[in-house]
Amino acid sequence: MAHEVTLIPGDGTGPELIEATRRVLEATGVEFQWDRHEAGVDAFEATGNPFPDATMASLKRTRVGIKGPTTTPVGSGFRSVNVLLRKELDLYACIRPCKAYEGVRTRFPEVDIVIVRENTEDLYAGIEFERGTPENAELRAALERLGAHVREDSGISIKPISVFGSERIVRKAFEYARERGRDKVTAAHKANIMKFSDGLFLEVARRVAPDYPDIEFEDRIIDNLCNQLISRPEEYDVIVLPNLYGDIVSDLGAGMIGGLGFAGGANIGTEAAVFEATHGSAPKYKGLNKVNPTALMLSGVYMLEHLSEEAAARKLESAIATVIREGERVTYDLKPTRDDPSAVGTSEFANAVIEEMIT
Ligand code: NAD
Repeated sequence: MAHEVTLIPGDGTGPELIEATRRVLEATGVEFQWDRHEAGVDAFEATGNPFPDATMASLKRTRVGIKGPTTTPVGSGFRSVNVLLRKELDLYACIRPCKAYEGVRTRFPEVDIVIVRENTEDLYAGIEFERGTPENAELRAALERLGAHVREDSGISIKPISVFGSERIVRKAFEYARERGRDKVTAAHKANIMKFSDGLFLEVARRVAPDYPDIEFEDRIIDNLCNQLISRPEEYDVIVLPNLYGDIVSDLGAGMIGGLGFAGGANIGTEAAVFEATHGSAPKYKGLNKVNPTALMLSGVYMLEHLSEEAAARKLESAIATVIREGERVTYDLKPTRDDPSAVGTSEFANAVIEEMIT
């Protein structure tokens, strides 16, 4: 039976990346019924809403989506589609595998780690009090009564971390490790300084870890983790982190495997799962058939895994890896110089992956 999936092209280079990804997913032989819906700047210009209700309704119905990047214009009052999606669908786990493929220029050719980022709490919860507002003054007065002095000219962002949020993300990391045959989960935190938020995250991780005796557990202070990821990356496997550290370490991981062009991701929630690249809409390349579709194609691989299409996932990943390793029919960013005339476009890269799968 065909899998019904919500297909969101996004904007900027999103539509061309989604088209390349749709074609390679279909070439695996798995059948899809795409429910195509808009989101982002183009949807905003057409309907006045960057995230039309029909798009959300489709995701709630199909419970699986693949999405191209969407632009968040700076200073326009236009809400981020990604933040909306995360909140509405409770996409609490952001899973970003970072694996260096042969043929990609990187100083870390052995890297094969998975970042599991909590996606709903922490400093991203959006609980902020602007400097100079009555709410800010009220909060500072309450803090003063509790013995904490905050300077009058401060802006304040709150960092909530709950037992509930920590437990479900830590369990997700262990379950992911178990399903994927990985050996170790590392919890990263700054519990030595933030004893009641990061400290709670660590306490929960330590309590949950014995439920998974087949998987090794350790913890690292976040700054030490960053240091060690660069000096001894082979010691890391699955890393689970609160939201902000997860965001930063995801980009560190993307840099280690050759850049944003290779960083795919899965946002898993209680209501649905949405698969998308880590990178943004790269608007300067819009319509040029130029950018690298690998990150979105790898997100497609993770979607196949989520749909229990394991054989198709391996077939697609291996075809992508071969095309990258051979280095001939690849986009400009995979060539020795960015103006290499032998670089191909987004669509031709997809053709090469498809040919690799059918030969
Ligand atoms: P970006 O990721 O779009 O671009 C950063 C750099 O990486 C640019 O030089 C770009 O050309 C390059 N790049 C990105 N993807 C590439 C690819 N597939 N192949 C080759 N090169 C690639 O980041 P930005 O410029 O900071 O953001 C642009 C817009 O995207 C912003 O509006 C931002 O809010 C949005 N954004 C969306 C998402 C999302 O939808 N998930 C994620 C991040 C940023």
